[in-house]
Amino acid sequence: MCPAVSDDNLASLLRERLSPDVLGVLGAITRAAGERRERVYLVGGTVRDLLLGHETLDLDLAVEGNAEALAQTVADEIGSSVVAHSRFGTATLQAGTLSVDLAMARTERYPRPGALPEVQPGAIEEDLSRRDFTINAIAIDVSEPTFGAVIDPLAGRADLEARLIRVLHDGSFRDDPTRILRALRYQARFDFALEEHTERLLKRHAEDLRGISGDRVRHELERTWEEREPERVLKAAQEAGVLAAIHPGLAWDSTASRRFARARRHGAASPAVYLALFAYKLDEAAVDGLVKRLALSRAAARAIRDAHGLRGVVASIAAPETRPSEVVQALDGYSPDAVAACRAATESPIIDERLGRYLKEWRDVRPQLDGKSLAGLGVDEGPDVGALLERLRNARLDGQAVTRDDEVALVRRWLRSSGNAG
Ligand code: ATP
Repeated sequence: MCPAVSDDNLASLLRERLSPDVLGVLGAITRAAGERRERVYLVGGTVRDLLLGHETLDLDLAVEGNAEALAQTVADEIGSSVVAHSRFGTATLQAGTLSVDLAMARTERYPRPGALPEVQPGAIEEDLSRRDFTINAIAIDVSEPTFGAVIDPLAGRADLEARLIRVLHDGSFRDDPTRILRALRYQARFDFALEEHTERLLKRHAEDLRGISGDRVRHELERTWEEREPERVLKAAQEAGVLAAIHPGLAWDSTASRRFARARRHGAASPAVYLALFAYKLDEAAVDGLVKRLALSRAAARAIRDAHGLRGVVASIAAPETRPSEVVQALDGYSPDAVAACRAATESPIIDERLGRYLKEWRDVRPQLDGKSLAGLGVDEGPDVGALLERLRNARLDGQAVTRDDEVALVRRWLRSSGNAG
């Protein structure tokens, strides 16, 4: 249950919701911070998810002080490991399966819109006021003796209760347009609404995404693929004019949404499959443009390009008389992610069935005989070996060979008919 907004001490909620192990690590951090005269707060998604009653897997902490040194002190004491990111004043403490992110509480200033901010140490209230949305700008003090005190200067709890995504100031999307995609993600994930003024600002600044680097936009898309139903984010992005700002060819409709849902039903909802479906309707030039725009890796670009190429191929495997070996021949060489994307995209039951069998079964079929056993049957070394192995694979795929003996018999017959040996 979500505690009432008026409840300004959540000590009992923390003790109830965090496991003894997590409370133990948190206790070690706050004790060490006390000795160093530093204060520590739970912040960000951790607080939001705690208040929503959702599971909180990792901890986000803000430290008024030196987060990296604090993390190291605690790690030495409890025998865990730390990865420090000195440039950002942050550190990640790994205690068993629990990951704790510690960040220096900070103020931020944007030298120009869309640029990365300049950072300075600050108080927790300043740290909260640099954040993206009110629901992410709530802190819970975990230092003693104020353990559990809520710090909510921007009324984030009221927005959590009203299920609203609200920016902290009018310049928020202009300063950092990636917040546009973050807003749509939270909206879809929690089934929240954009607060009216925030929605107007979001639409007004959708175009600002054009100026954001490919790496940053790609990162936001990658986080979108991790959502339970990414298509909800993309639908909202389409409605707000955001997709066209990422790339002019991109558009979203209910068919595209159905494809995403189908990929999940097939158990094939990987980032590469989502990406290939995201770009499915683009023409070749637009695919090239998107690959550049998002600075995609070679593997990701291949999934998109192969899915594009396969669109013309899959029709050829729809005829009832097409043999499994012909399906394999048509599809081998394309990335399996692209095949999975095409399967999610097709409306044809027969193509769906064949692509599914290709992915689950046919593409891994190999003959039992190998080069050595062929030599034992009198096949000369050289290109014949590869060709015969291929024929055996096809025979196995098409049900003409089931056992090793079947394969041996086939090879003998082929050799006899080519007059080679016996
Ligand atoms: P998720 O559940 O999606 O991981 P999260 O809230 O933990 O949500 P992170 O991206 O891990 O999200 O960021 C942690 C916190 O840092 C956020 O809750 C938010 O307060 C702040 N934050 C992250 N990105 C931005 C941004 N672009 N602008 C302002 N604040 C941000």
